Order: sequence, then C-alpha cells, then structure tokens
Amino acid sequence: MAATMSQVFCKQLGVASRWTILPLRSMSTAFKASDIQIELTKRPKEKPDPGKLIFGKTFTDHMLTVEWNNEKGWAKPCIKPFQNLSLHPAISALHYSVQLFEGMKAFRCVDKKVHLFRPMKNMERMHRSALRASLPSFDKAELLDCIRKLIEVDQEWVPYSDTASLYIRPTFIGTEPSLGVAKSNHALLYCIIGPVGPYFPSGGFTPISLLADPKFVRAWMGGVGDSKLGGNYGPTIYVQSIAADQGCHQVLWLYGEDHQITEAGTMNIFVYWTNEQGEEELVTPPLNGIILPGVTRHSLLDLARQWGKFKVAEKTITMSDLIKGLEEKRVKEVFGAGTACVVLPVNRILYQQKSYHIPTMDNGPDLAKRFLKELTDIQYGRTPSDWMLSI
Ligand SMILES: *Cc1c(COP(=O)(O)O)cnc(C)c1O
Repeated sequence: MAATMSQVFCKQLGVASRWTILPLRSMSTAFKASDIQIELTKRPKEKPDPGKLIFGKTFTDHMLTVEWNNEKGWAKPCIKPFQNLSLHPAISALHYSVQLFEGMKAFRCVDKKVHLFRPMKNMERMHRSALRASLPSFDKAELLDCIRKLIEVDQEWVPYSDTASLYIRPTFIGTEPSLGVAKSNHALLYCIIGPVGPYFPSGGFTPISLLADPKFVRAWMGGVGDSKLGGNYGPTIYVQSIAADQGCHQVLWLYGEDHQITEAGTMNIFVYWTNEQGEEELVTPPLNGIILPGVTRHSLLDLARQWGKFKVAEKTITMSDLIKGLEEKRVKEVFGAGTACVVLPVNRILYQQKSYHIPTMDNGPDLAKRFLKELTDIQYGRTPSDWMLSI
C-alpha cells in the first residue's frame, strides 16, 4: 500500500508512524471570520411590511454556512444567497435528531444602527449544546463574528421600528450519511435570519392561561432539557394541542412526584409573591439540569438583583407551594420569559381539573410590565447598556 503523505512526513521526521493517527493535513479545529467567503445574491427579494410579519416565515437574502468533517476539520465560512440545502437521506440529523439551534435577536436602536442583545450568552449555550450532541467544537467568538458579518450584509432587513426586530437562528446539524447511531463525522453549522414583528400587537400585553398536567414531562434529570436540542421540542407540539383543546394557551411543564413547576411552553417561568417567611420574593426554578438556561431569565435575575427592591431566589417551587400561596393571597404575579416575548404574563392555570386564577395584571402595571419596559429600553438603545453589541 502506498504510504500516505503523513506517513512519508513522519518517516522524514523519524517519528513512529503510529502517530499518523494525528492528522498532519491542515485540519482546522476552528473556523475564522476573517476567512469568510461572500457570494452576494443577484436577485434581492422585496422587503416585507414589518406590520404584517408572521414569526419564522420570512427570511433575508443571505445565509451563513460552515461545513465540518473529521478529516479536514472546519472549512471556510460562507455567506451565500439564501437557498435550500441538499442532504443525503440517511443523515443523523434527520434520523436521530443530531441537531441543535439557538434563538437570538438584533434590534434597530435609537441611533438607527443594529445591535445584538448579549449574543455571547447564546454562543456559549450553543457550544454546550454542540458538545452534548457530540457535534464538533468551534470558536464561539469567531462564530459570533461570522453572524455579525451576515447581519451586516443583510442589515437593511432589520426593521426600522422600535417594536419589530431581526430574529437570528443559528443551527447545527449532523450530516453523517449513515444509519449507525454513532458520532457524526460530517456536520453543517448554518445561520438563517429574518425580520419578526412585535410579539404584542399595539397596546396588548394580554395574560395567557397554562395547562399543568403532570402526565407529560418536558425534560428529566440526566436528560438534555438544559440544551437547545431540536429533539426537545418536536414532541411538545402534541401536548400543546392538548392544552389548546382544554382552552389553554400553553403548557406549564411539571416534574417529579411533587409536581415541581419547571417551564412554560418554551419560556422560563417566574413567580413574584410574598413567601412563607413574609418576604417579597421573585422566584424561578434553579438550573438543575431540567431547565433551559435562558438569556432572558439570566437578564431578569440580573436586573432584579441590581434594583435590590425584593429578594431574588433560584429555588424549586411546586404546584402545592403555588396553590397555598394563592389561597393565602400571597401570589402577586406569574410570568414566562424568553427571547420571543421578553415576558408573558399568566393569569390562569388549569391543574387537576381545577382552574386557578393568578392575579397577574389584575391591578394594572406590575413587575412583569416593568421588566418588559426595562429590557426593551435596553434592547432598542433607549437605556445605554453594555449588554448590547453593535454588528
Ligand atoms: C429558548 C428557551 C427558553 C428561553 O431562552 P432565551 O435565551 O431567554 O430565549 C426557555 N425555555 C426553553 C425550553 C427554551 O427552549
């Protein structure tokens, strides 16, 4: 058998050829934004009316792609016209859900420039998801710079609006063309972006209802609920439709024999109440493995701790804690938190055939509304903050 280049190389160096398992070809363990190849579209699309956008249906003119394989490592990142992918029908993303994603936003700030909200937090979470999915590592800062370049190319797509924004969907898939349940030797990281309208139509900050049915579980200890893997989301659509059949907007995910409150839909959940010790307290479940570490969650905790006006706790809260609090009139508010809505007030929970009214928004402006205002003021540049990064 002919000696490989690396074996020849090793011979020249006098190194034992068993070391040739270390690839001597220019294997790239990280891609670099400075290597980006740009191909611009010849047919730019018409930009939509920002008032008529439906979430996730409109995409810009370009996308970012970076290919990886175990022999050569990362290829050069490409920005190219938005287009379909061509994929082998056996790839691991399609069969075994070797797939993960991120969700973040860019905003047209008061200076008319485009800024991202705490984007390194998303890069760090994406990197953790990648390791959990046995997909290759990458340099988080370089990926962020590639995404910034993509947004710069399509910057006119960021709505000139103080309620709409640009949604950013980095995605990472295993493209191993084999049915073996094994680590992918091929992968594709890509990013698509598109303008999204306001989550709350003008004037509306309307509370929603939740179905809390302990029969269904979103995530479990030792599982992957704390990673943004696609496989966590597909199976929730069925439960969501059961909630809708029972007149509820979304699902309140419970966990364990004691019916711990974990998340609401694809949002982290917060309870603002007077605790049993008589203290004003904002509570959210701790990051114990079954909670997705939301950037919005983190930001609300940071803001509340900065204000220092009430106690802030990351601790487990069960349905019986909540019901006791409701009966003793200690619960003030329950709300969800995530990138799409920032905060979403909850005014009803359906649990074991009983409907529980939550007094969120009953008495006008409240904590949920204050969080919405403070965070959107930062996001649109009305309040200067080092959480924002220009593209
Ligand atoms: C994405 C997500 C959130 C919210 O995270 P953000 O970073 O604030 O958008 C919360 N829960 C689940 C299950 C999620 O997938």
